[in-house]
Amino acid sequence: MEYESGNIFSKILAGEIPCDKVYEDDYTLAFRDINPQAPVHILIIPKLERATLSDCTENDVELLGRFSLAAINIARQEGLQSYRTVINCGADADQTVFHLHMHLLSGRKFSWPPG
Ligand code: AMP
Repeated sequence: MEYESGNIFSKILAGEIPCDKVYEDDYTLAFRDINPQAPVHILIIPKLERATLSDCTENDVELLGRFSLAAINIARQEGLQSYRTVINCGADADQTVFHLHMHLLSGRKFSWPPG
């Protein structure tokens, strides 16, 4: 599969820069966040290029389902009982890398509302 090398996650997918991989399947790649906000902080990215969640359409139903299943599989693999998943969509939501990704956070108590 070929990936545009426009952003850091595309480069990771293309194997141009390394990552601390924890999971991979046909649809997703997951690796540890370089600046973890919890004892467990994993990023899940789809293998298809979508800049934000809002860029997904009806055609991406399988991508989105596989993306969520990957989080479940990783939580099982890592033995996580309780965890939080976050998708930041857009600059005001603090999205900084414009390749769709889900944060999987665990290992500490979280509060609500988020900051
Ligand atoms: P967001 O702010 O939702 O776009 O999240 C982007 C995340 O990517 C941040 O938590 C960063 O710490 C993380 N990040 C940026 N570059 C890398 C990298 N090379 N490897 C792993 N995580 C990264």
